Amino acid sequence: MIFGFLKKRRRRRLRARLIPAAWGLTLTRGLPVFRRLPPEDQAELLGHVQVFLAEKKFEGCGGLNLTDEIRLTIAAHACLLLLHRETDYYPELSTILVYPSTYVAHGERHLEGPIWESGEQHLLGHTQHRLGALVLAWDAAKRSAANSSGGRNLVLHEFAHQLDFEDHATDGTPVLTTRSDYATWERVMSREFKALRAADEAGSLTVMDTYGATNPAEFFAVATETFFERPDALRAVHPDLYTELKRFYCQDPARHFVESVTLD
Ligand SMILES: [Zn+2]
Repeated sequence: MIFGFLKKRRRRRLRARLIPAAWGLTLTRGLPVFRRLPPEDQAELLGHVQVFLAEKKFEGCGGLNLTDEIRLTIAAHACLLLLHRETDYYPELSTILVYPSTYVAHGERHLEGPIWESGEQHLLGHTQHRLGALVLAWDAAKRSAANSSGGRNLVLHEFAHQLDFEDHATDGTPVLTTRSDYATWERVMSREFKALRAADEAGSLTVMDTYGATNPAEFFAVATETFFERPDALRAVHPDLYTELKRFYCQDPARHFVESVTLD
């Protein structure tokens, strides 16, 4: 496959480009998830960021002036989810649309059974299978990225949805390696999803945001946020869920978490 070969070569060259000095400062200041990574992972991530910025189109909407900080923050989150494994850099995604703040989308929302509600929705971010785009409200994205204790991360959430789409189904299961990986994933995720639903209905305290109880796709996106933002709590309370995400993301964020939080 000559195209595959050329694409790989182009990406290899992009990854080897010199990193602008200002990038490190922007990322270590504004992004605890980046600051917590070991230096070799930071270097790998910055290489991926070069590819991401060269291949994806960014558009400022609603009067937003795109800056390097905006592009870099979004790209670094996207690439955190790609470390240590073969990746095609979100092949379905071509454009990232960024609004200054909450934006209004017109569409239909499923309530239950045959009932749909149409009208305006105020959103902070969304993406959809076959849309080719991912939309974010910059103020909310920046706030959730800078706050390392909240457990939420809007940008990681939306990019986790993109990973979910890579097998052409929006079902909370991204592309896994072996059949036994799928079997274990299915078993653990459905059990944990049911437990979150039950906790949500009972109104009990949860490590994960209960928005994850909406459906399996949201469960995977919210679990991804928690895995990177509160890895110690997730590992302690939901060890099986942590193990599945650790295998999929080829990362063990809880290992670096405690010491870096005390240093923050
Ligand atoms: Zn979502």
